[in-house]
Amino acid sequence: MGADRKIMALPRADLRKHLQESYGFRGFRGDQVFSWMHGKRVRSFAEMTNIAADARRLLSESERLTLPVESGRLEASDGTVKLLLQADDGAPVEAVMIPEPDRLTACLSVQVGCRMGCTFCQTGAAGFRRDLAADEMVAQLYALQEIAERRISNVVLMGMGEPLDNLPAVEDALSIITDDMGICIGARKITVSTVGIPEGIQRLQSLEGAFGLALSLHSARQETRERLVPAARRWKLEDVRSALLEYAREKGRRVTLEYCLIGGVNDSREEAEALARFASGLPCKINLIVYNPVEGMDWRRPSDRAVDSFAEYLYPRCPAVTVRRSRGREVAAACGQLGASLL
Ligand code: SF4
Repeated sequence: MGADRKIMALPRADLRKHLQESYGFRGFRGDQVFSWMHGKRVRSFAEMTNIAADARRLLSESERLTLPVESGRLEASDGTVKLLLQADDGAPVEAVMIPEPDRLTACLSVQVGCRMGCTFCQTGAAGFRRDLAADEMVAQLYALQEIAERRISNVVLMGMGEPLDNLPAVEDALSIITDDMGICIGARKITVSTVGIPEGIQRLQSLEGAFGLALSLHSARQETRERLVPAARRWKLEDVRSALLEYAREKGRRVTLEYCLIGGVNDSREEAEALARFASGLPCKINLIVYNPVEGMDWRRPSDRAVDSFAEYLYPRCPAVTVRRSRGREVAAACGQLGASLL
């Protein structure tokens, strides 16, 4: 284990191995420690009462259990909560909880800032600071669960950062979150959102579990897309589409196409036609998200008429289209609005 990698960042199999190699603990000890950290979510080794006192002492002398701490909280009238956390090094980490009647969703960040530079996104504008480690991702979920009134049922990796740009840590976090000795949220209830990195999608496909996959598409025309998602220059839309198609077939579940409708940019008939073509033959659902104006950015919200006519073009052509007028706007917790703490 790298010197800086914390014990909480280890999936269960790695934890067992680490404890065995470092302290000679037998495998079941690793399971016990894992269950205390991720199932019962204690904050100190002293609380791990079924572990011998000597072993606990050894662990507390050599390992750290520190997690990001809450530094602020904003609550919208629709129940959306944005939690601001601070990592060990002072880096700000933002997580959001979105209540709906049939589910409670935690939206987690995977990086501090983001390298993708999407031009409509506050995080993108703030640039990239660093990757988050797996423990810093799961800590967001635990902090949200602590203040939630019911069990968090769903997780989306849709906060700050690009998950497929930090895949090793994301893979570890997914393994910890889905583990039945931990918080145990099933792969089908977890969605990874990406700008569409074909190699990353293939790697995600190789993991066990049918994780949900959402593509931040925003335009099915390469030129418009590159304007909105500059990093997309590196990946051709047809390659992204092929990777999605393979993922959907292999995992037996639809992918989601996220499309943030921006006034005068990607809300024309031509754009709707390109989107319908992209979606044709792809097992998918389409989420149209009406853009939330962000201070200091030139993009504008589309008119209601433009939104309606865009959606009406798609309805008969694509199997599942929903229009989302984002929740959490008043606390800047909606798509593209995280990252204010970085500015
Ligand atoms: Fe990064 Fe997502 Fe923002 Fe794009 S929209 S800059 S991928 S956080």
